[in-house]
Order: sequence, then C-alpha cells, then structure tokens
Amino acid sequence: MEVNLDIQSLSSWGIIPGERPLVISGPCSAESEEQLVSTAKLLSREKKVNVLRAGVWKPRTRPNSFEGIGAPALEWLNTAKQETGLPTAVEVANAYHIEECLKAGVDILWIGARTTVNPFTVQEIADALKGVDIPVMVKNPINPDLALWMGAMERLNQSGIKKLAAIHRGFSTFEKSKFRNLPMWNLPIELRRLVPELPIICDPSHICGNRELLFEVSQKALDLNFNGLMIESHINPAKALSDAAQQLTPDALTEMLTALALREPTTTDASFLHTLEELRTDIDQIDNEIINIMGRRMQIVEKIGAFKADKNITILQTKRWDDIVKSRLQRGGDKGLTEKFIVKMFEAIHQESIRKQTEVMNAKKA
Ligand code: PEP
Ligand code: MN
Repeated sequence: MEVNLDIQSLSSWGIIPGERPLVISGPCSAESEEQLVSTAKLLSREKKVNVLRAGVWKPRTRPNSFEGIGAPALEWLNTAKQETGLPTAVEVANAYHIEECLKAGVDILWIGARTTVNPFTVQEIADALKGVDIPVMVKNPINPDLALWMGAMERLNQSGIKKLAAIHRGFSTFEKSKFRNLPMWNLPIELRRLVPELPIICDPSHICGNRELLFEVSQKALDLNFNGLMIESHINPAKALSDAAQQLTPDALTEMLTALALREPTTTDASFLHTLEELRTDIDQIDNEIINIMGRRMQIVEKIGAFKADKNITILQTKRWDDIVKSRLQRGGDKGLTEKFIVKMFEAIHQESIRKQTEVMNAKKA
C-alpha cells in the first residue's frame, strides 16, 4: 500500500509538552457543567493529563440512549479550560459539529470509529475543514480495515490538515472476547511501518470496555511506542450516562498513570546496541533457516500432491491433519510455545500445503 501523508509532529500542535506519553482524558460524555468542570479540575491537579476530552454529540448504537448534550456543552468545555488551562478535544461527525466547535474555540477535533467507516461523511468533514489549521485525531474504523483508516487521514490531509494523529480504539467483533473491541495490534503496528511520522494514540477505554484491563492495554501501547493514551474519566463513573463500566475516577487514573513503566524507544548506550545487534543477527539467521526449511517442506508437499493426483486421492486427509496438530502441540509445549501459537502456525502451513497440492492437481488435470 502506497501512502503519502504530509504530517506535522505533535510538538507543532503547540498545546502539548514534549514529554511522552501524551495523555488525553475526560468523560465519555459531557453531562453537566458541574460534572465536566469538577472532573477536569481533578485531572489537571497532578499535571499528568495534557488534554481534556468530552463527547458532546454521542453516536449510540440504539436510539433512546443518552445522545449527548449537543452544542450547549461546548461552553462547559470552555469553562473547564479557563479553570484548568487544559486544551479541549471533542468528537465531530459532520460539518455542523465542526462549525460549532470552531465557533466555541475547541482546540483539537477527533473523528469517531463510526464516522471513519463512511467516506462520504469523512469527505464532508474534510471539506468543512479546508483552510482551518486545527489538529485532528482519527479513530480507526469499527472494522479492521487499515486502508479505510488511512483513507480518512488522506482525505483530511488533502484538505490541508497536517496536524494529524491516529487513535487506535480496537475493532468490533462477533467473537466472544475479554475485550469490548479487539486490539488487533498488528494494524496500528503496520500503520506505524507505513507512516512512521504519524503520531498514534491508544484508546484503552474503548478497547477494554471495563476498568480492569486498562492497565495492561495501556502498558502494552507504551511498550509498542505509541505516542499517547486517551482514557475516559468521570467524577462518578458509576453514575455515568454512557460507558459507565470503563471510566476511571481522576484519582484512579492518576494512580494508573503513575504505575505505568515508561521505557525509552531507543538508547545511545553502545554496549547495549552492540548486544542487541548480535542478538538480531542470530534472529536473522534463524529466520533464514525457517524459510529454507519451509521451502524444503513445500517441495515434499508438491511430491505428495503429484502422488495423490496419480492415485486419485483427496488432498485433505483429516486423520493425518489431526495427528499433525496433536504431535506438534506436544512438541511445542515441550519447547515452551503456547497452544495458540502452534495451532496458528500449523494452520498457516497446512493452508499453504493445500494450496500447493491443489495447484499440482489442477496442473495434472490440464
Ligand atoms: C468515544 O470516544 O466516546 C467514542 C464514541 O469512541 P469510539 O468512536 O471509539 O466508539
Ligand atoms: Mn465512550
């Protein structure tokens, strides 16, 4: 995938100190002036939070839930900003929201997951932002589609928005999972590989859907070198009108942020770099061996395919596949490899073997 984004760094946003990580916090929804201002005051006390977030228009799955206060809540954000000095961030989902936020002086905008999926809406937002210099954060779409996520950022970029960041908030799933939205870390990692200069912020709140998992997801995001965290907080989470189960009190947030280990992305320590280089050389060597061995395995698979074709035998031999899984699991366990990993690896190898044998059989038929 070819991507060309013209991105300015987080420091150009002018409202965020250079330190890592950037922390954005505040309630899922602005519910009252008192709720928002009291939350913001507690958040600003420890100086660990850099930006105040609040949902003003709430995209809810079903009607008749609390859908946000709307434009009047923007005034409360301004009050909170005056009282605490925290810059503000609000979700926008159409041109009207943008007009209201710009009028109210909101500092940062974000696009929600349900909006990123729709190119018409994203284009409407991008058009409404033409000529405006404001940071925009783009949440991943609800489905795991990296091109769609990137497409949204490209549309904004083409409208002149250069202060861009991505927010990773996980992906909807039908699967039963401990997460509300599956993190699928490979997507933001691939995004980082494709656009290294794009800041990526993790939203553990919407990934977890509960308070219990927030720490491990936040730590993982920091260890993957994400630039920041967006975590929902509420003066009284139990009473929250949306996302009650996942919000933290400002005190609990401070405690969690303090407990997070901040590891450096890199170092200038020569002996460390030298040892790392040696270990990486070992890994490169092993990866080469794995590829060579896979090549040899596939040559044998090809022979088996030809053999089966001659005797008119089906490709899939269920008993054999079952034996493979069982014996490889046993061996993997002995080597300290997890069941999940062994199954995934051999499923991939088996799929490729079937593909290869099908190719051989079809060639024989022709
Ligand atoms: C939110 O941040 O409160 C929100 C609605 O998130 P998402 O778009 O990730 O569902
Ligand atoms: Mn929320």
